[in-house]
Amino acid sequence: MLIPDFETQLREASLRVTRPRLAVLAAVHEHPHADTDTVINLVRAHQPTVSHQAVYDILRALSDAGILRRIQPAGSAARYEGRVGDNHHHVVCRSCGDIADVACSVGHAPCLTASVDHGFVIDEAEVVYWGTCPRCAATASRTLHATASPEGIR
Ligand SMILES: [Zn+2]
Ligand SMILES: [Zn+2]
Repeated sequence: MLIPDFETQLREASLRVTRPRLAVLAAVHEHPHADTDTVINLVRAHQPTVSHQAVYDILRALSDAGILRRIQPAGSAARYEGRVGDNHHHVVCRSCGDIADVACSVGHAPCLTASVDHGFVIDEAEVVYWGTCPRCAATASRTLHATASPEGIR
């Protein structure tokens, strides 16, 4: 995979290249769909002097600039990722909140044709597929078998 050039991304967005901004970009690229707390911990592991507020501000600035994408499935904290501009969707585990990427369903953005557009010019569709991740599915079936007594499931 091509390693993104974070410095160029920042310059192209007219943002000053700073160590904390580079650290946030690196953290999000290494941990796609990380939430804010995870990003803060990753950044501060390398740069302990960077404040929580600074990381919040950087995440917002980078999202506003389109370098990062902010997603927030219902009931979840905001998550960030560096994969932007391809209108991909997400599958979310109802049980543990794990998130994975799902490529655009049909062709390119908005990829889904709305049955009614209400006169809007639609340029993007954001789909969240909900389900159970393989790990949670495996745990659930183990639990089911463990609670099954010789007389059957109570
Ligand atoms: Zn899960
Ligand atoms: Zn994603």
